[in-house]
Amino acid sequence: MNEDSCSIIEDQGIVTLSQKNCPQLFYFGQYFRLINNSNGQCKWRCVKPSCNVRCITNGCSVGEKYAVEKDNDDPKSHPNHASDPIRFSRLEKRRKMREIAQNTEEAPSCIISKCVDQIQNEEAIAQSSTLDSDRQFITRIKKAKKDDYLKISQPESLKEITFPNELIKTYDDDNFLLHDSGADDAERFFIFGTMALKKNLNHIHFLSTRLDLDDPVQAKINSVYEYFEETYVGKLSQIKNGRGRNKIEEIRSKPHFAIELWNIHSRLISDIPWTTSLVESWHNAFCRILTSHTCVYSLVDWLRKEHKKTNENLIKFKTSVTANRNQEKFNIDKRR
Ligand SMILES: [Zn+2]
Repeated sequence: MNEDSCSIIEDQGIVTLSQKNCPQLFYFGQYFRLINNSNGQCKWRCVKPSCNVRCITNGCSVGEKYAVEKDNDDPKSHPNHASDPIRFSRLEKRRKMREIAQNTEEAPSCIISKCVDQIQNEEAIAQSSTLDSDRQFITRIKKAKKDDYLKISQPESLKEITFPNELIKTYDDDNFLLHDSGADDAERFFIFGTMALKKNLNHIHFLSTRLDLDDPVQAKINSVYEYFEETYVGKLSQIKNGRGRNKIEEIRSKPHFAIELWNIHSRLISDIPWTTSLVESWHNAFCRILTSHTCVYSLVDWLRKEHKKTNENLIKFKTSVTANRNQEKFNIDKRR
């Protein structure tokens, strides 16, 4: 080593990611691999096997710039080989794409467009990866980061749906799947939510009607009524009461979802909107998060996330934040 070893060279190096996902220092057209990292002092060595040029930085966080100190020879000149700035812009572009693919749900084409400014000069563009290989790269990253439930094969019928345990719990470990009409139900359906919302609700008027059960259409309508009655109102049954059990009384059993849970009576009293406009605007916003034809497991996970987000908002409203409703929307609500 000569006298001025370890002296700081003014220009900075930038840490990027190698194809093997290791930090790699780019400095004056050359790449260095991390060989030692102790107490924040990082030692790097040129990636070319024939080259022994080493240097030092005070950190190795990907995307950061660091002052480069020389260790043995001048890290700017590598006597054995030429520099490769084009490779740098290529790797940087891949790194950016990886970052977006891992942290967002954006479509590959969108990610590619966002990274299009990464490679500037014509020579580098000519040597850069094709659109197809970029797309494959992004798809690979997205696949690798997928939650476990997305790796299991997708159900091809309602019968095949089996929710992994993590999906039927909220992020707070509450039950999230409230109802499953059963694998044998040809029109199987699920209800997701939590019973914590139960407190808010009230009264009901249930329409009953006489239907001709011999008519298949009316029989179907009747089964919907029955389902509704059983689930939301409580099934009506007659019991004999009174002395000598000669008085017939009608009583309702406990419904699956208590009337207080879903009825809007208290909303009217409290002057809270009772149209579905808010639900519809939520639905619109929610659909924009989802990709088209989202698989059922992914959909349920987004619902869980939404549930968590709503809970967080509730906590905020209970503590400090106040919500101001848009007056225009408020008036629309008033029209009912
Ligand atoms: Zn070298």
